[in-house]
Amino acid sequence: MNYISTYSLRMIAENIQNIGEKLKNACIMAGRKPSDVQLIAVSKTFGTDAITLAINAGILEFGENYVQELIEKRNALIDRNILWHFIGHLQSNKVKYLAEWIHMIHSVDSEGLAVEIEKRAAKAGRTIDILIEVNTSEEATKFGIRPNHAIELVKAVSRFDHLNVKGLMTIGPFTDIVDESRAAFRLLRSIFNEVNNNGIGKHPMEILSMGMSHDYAAAIAEGSTMVRIGTAIFGSRTSQSN
Ligand SMILES: *Cc1c(COP(=O)(O)O)cnc(C)c1O
Repeated sequence: MNYISTYSLRMIAENIQNIGEKLKNACIMAGRKPSDVQLIAVSKTFGTDAITLAINAGILEFGENYVQELIEKRNALIDRNILWHFIGHLQSNKVKYLAEWIHMIHSVDSEGLAVEIEKRAAKAGRTIDILIEVNTSEEATKFGIRPNHAIELVKAVSRFDHLNVKGLMTIGPFTDIVDESRAAFRLLRSIFNEVNNNGIGKHPMEILSMGMSHDYAAAIAEGSTMVRIGTAIFGSRTSQSN
């Protein structure tokens, strides 16, 4: 696979510094502690040269969307102690390739997928941290469980011994209208609160994975604890399909 490397690599350290400042400011504006919001660098379509520069700039956790691409990069960077987050749509038949080492799966949106992760986690002798992906904007093209079915799925998935349901994830609407972004993120937080206030699930949820390069400020204002930032770190992916 050919990954984008035309983007000026020397910009990456500077971008990480900049986004760090911006995230910090967004937290202060929202009356929150900067240490409560964790940054995941989304490296999809970018090569190991770009990832290495991000590591050198202090990033330890990376997000990827495609299984094959993730496996290639993980193998190339095996000695770097990266914590890998799977954030894309996951097909059940690919879970086996990730089960032994994935740090967190953000995109669990069906019981069938959870059953498969449970099976593979048990086989690997570990517990896998997962998030339930909710389609908060109910856009037909998006993956994620519908908001009114999310609680049901949390309950169903909480019975598994090798899954740790750490929280919820959503992709905000494709819009620059802040109020629309905030409404979607507020909906995710309301589901999160409902889970925790009613003691649904084995443990209280801790993670709200929401906010990307264009909408992290809205997400932080609505309580995000984990932002997934690609473009603002690595540059645009315009020549790619996503
Ligand atoms: C690509 C992607 C991101 C990062 O998006 P940017 O706009 O480049 O910051 C975050 N989350 C998911 C699920 C993605 O697919």
